[in-house]
Amino acid sequence: MENNKSFFGTQGILIALLGLTGTFSIALMILFKTNTSDAQSQSNSVKDITANVVTQQRLEKFKTEMLTSWQQEAQAKGFATDVPSNFQGAVIKEAKLPAGKKVIALTFDDGPWPNSTAQVLDILKKNNIKGTFFVVGQNVKNYPDLTKRVVTDGHTIANHTWHHWYHHMNAQAAAYEVANTTDIIYKTTGVKTSLFRPPGGIMSNGVAAYAKSNKYAVIMWSADSIDYSRPGVPKLINNIFRGARPGGIVLMHDGGGDRAHTVKALPEIISRFRNQGYEFVTVPELLEMQNQYSQVVAQKSKKP
Ligand SMILES: [Zn+2]
Repeated sequence: MENNKSFFGTQGILIALLGLTGTFSIALMILFKTNTSDAQSQSNSVKDITANVVTQQRLEKFKTEMLTSWQQEAQAKGFATDVPSNFQGAVIKEAKLPAGKKVIALTFDDGPWPNSTAQVLDILKKNNIKGTFFVVGQNVKNYPDLTKRVVTDGHTIANHTWHHWYHHMNAQAAAYEVANTTDIIYKTTGVKTSLFRPPGGIMSNGVAAYAKSNKYAVIMWSADSIDYSRPGVPKLINNIFRGARPGGIVLMHDGGGDRAHTVKALPEIISRFRNQGYEFVTVPELLEMQNQYSQVVAQKSKKP
């Protein structure tokens, strides 16, 4: 019995030891497993980063290829079909015209936009006026029918970048903003524009520089309605007429936000200009007028 006892006693210790070892090894296994899975997830995240870098590199390569093909396509189509060659790459705030030539260009930015663009188009049609619309590429994509109507109503359509960004852009981003917008305007309307207006009139963030070096005429303005700040109809009208003069370019917005004030003010703006003896022209018409005038001036100065 004593032997048995001791046997059982020894066995008991052994079982206990085995049990302990078992527990220990399970604990070890858990630890090891945790470590392994940590290591695995670590190596996975390394793989993820590598994959991301590769994907980014592929995307960059794809973007560069896309840009090259757009640029080639644009070159094949021929830049600047609707702008006299001496305005390619130029920055224009207003036209220099002979004294007494009372013309003015109404321009509308940031569209096409639901409701307000159609309302502006209705007012212009009713008054038999052609304007110039600087459209945002992503809006052209979202509202192709409105974009087409701008062109079929006889207005000039022009480039106002894809995203309407203000921040600094490297050459590739600037190229995307400008070329992609010209491309979607062309695909939507068949018009190949060579007129560009930088968002916010910003000349220093890379996008205007790209447009200039690619022979766009950069169109600024001489009379700002400041309608984006929704100043109310009377102030909006006063803002325009404070800066209005013959050969001028008027800045308004048909898109990018609530343009109810602009829509409401437009009939009065038109009738006031008409009462002052103004005629309305598009930006290309304005440039053509200045071009002809400067040729006349140049010829006169050549004569002995
Ligand atoms: Zn704008």
